Amino acid sequence: MHHIKIKGADETYAVGKIVCLGRNYLDHIRELGNKVPDRAVIFCKPASSLISDGGTIRIPEYSDNCHHELELALLVGKTGKNITTDKALSYLAGYGVALDLTLRDLQDELKSKGMPWEIAKGFDTSCPLSDFVPADSVTNPNNIQLTLKINGQVRQQGTTAQMMRSVEEIIAEVSTFYTLEPGDIILTGTPAGVSRIQSGDQLEGTIEQVGTLRATVA
Ligand code: ZN
Repeated sequence: MHHIKIKGADETYAVGKIVCLGRNYLDHIRELGNKVPDRAVIFCKPASSLISDGGTIRIPEYSDNCHHELELALLVGKTGKNITTDKALSYLAGYGVALDLTLRDLQDELKSKGMPWEIAKGFDTSCPLSDFVPADSVTNPNNIQLTLKINGQVRQQGTTAQMMRSVEEIIAEVSTFYTLEPGDIILTGTPAGVSRIQSGDQLEGTIEQVGTLRATVA
């Protein structure tokens, strides 16, 4: 069982489901040659995919092209279904920094066959996750900078202002499909700049007002 800590608070959250949004930044959709979706692209990662800040990423031997995707993570603090956008932020307990690691070669192969590609997203260690900051310490989650450095070089840089769906809209839409429960995590999609990681790489993802997440590739 994985638990999430909120900085400065005593309580911890047992992790429930990890719901991820795909194709939420236009420039990332374009770099992969994907279509702009009519409705949100939603998939889940298993809780077993989580590793903590400072953890080690282990790329499975059946893939030769693992991509980094830096994403703002939302921690759900109370139960809700069919949440409206005006109330959406009140369901959050905190914000964190996440990596949605993706086996792009396996994903492309499965996609081309019309098969579900969750196994390309859910392998062990595919979800490095920082500790969270309290929700009220972020003034506007829809206008904060994200930066991912690999071995000290900037690879991804963007702002949540570029998201096609706002944090409120994401919570509302996801909650029409799944009841959100305390301890659930939502990843909000990645800006452009995704690329292959390899053995020995040091990843450092920073999100303004939220914090920094570090991970090393075995
Ligand atoms: Zn992603």
